[in-house]
Amino acid sequence: MRLRNITGSREAIGESRFVVHEPEQYPGKWRELFGNENPLCAEIGMGKGRFLMEMAKQHPSVNFIGIEKYSSVLLRAIQKMEELEQSGQAPANIKFIRMDAEDITKVFGEGELDRIYLNFSDPWPKERHAKRRLPSGQFLARYDRILKKDGELEFKTDNQELFDFAVGELEGAGWKARELTRDLHADERLCEGNVMTEYEERFSKMGNPICKYIIYR
Ligand code: SAM
Repeated sequence: MRLRNITGSREAIGESRFVVHEPEQYPGKWRELFGNENPLCAEIGMGKGRFLMEMAKQHPSVNFIGIEKYSSVLLRAIQKMEELEQSGQAPANIKFIRMDAEDITKVFGEGELDRIYLNFSDPWPKERHAKRRLPSGQFLARYDRILKKDGELEFKTDNQELFDFAVGELEGAGWKARELTRDLHADERLCEGNVMTEYEERFSKMGNPICKYIIYR
């Protein structure tokens, strides 16, 4: 994702109706915003939004929120939604937020989310940056607040070191693995209904096995 400085991306995002512009106004009110009581799921670090758009299409009675830090990346997702809109195919059950996930507890109420997805999160390989990794203990504590009691979090990556780190963070943070594989695409049961992300397609084509866990607490 080397798209961080596309001129005008902030302005384009500011005008998009697919983006929630003051998300800190909505803790506890996301279902109201969607106008229904359907389950609410979020992908954190959604990139260009391919996974989320396919999920929204396959699950029209679930609401999906995509969170992305960089305007220039989010712009790609907005452009895709605009294309879909022109052919009358833009899913109504998607909203985007441009924000750093560090502030996620300011945006969602306690237990408001039914499910969280982390897909191919940035590895932040330097030890001093470990707390920036989206599956770190620090982030798990944030997710603990906004995910409902019996909610689940799904994480996929091809990065073995990041996956080992993520698994190592679970116990101390009070989470347990319901499912865990280091080769998702070879596991027929776990792969059923799998929606490929952009990075997943890229890295699995290169022959990298995909790791996945589904966790709960
Ligand atoms: N999930 C997509 C996929 O699997 O194809 C994109 C993966 S890409 C490697 C990671 C994305 O997460 C990038 O677009 C990055 O900007 C975003 N990201 C990283 N840290 C973030 C944070 N703290 N808050 C929001 N987005 C973040």
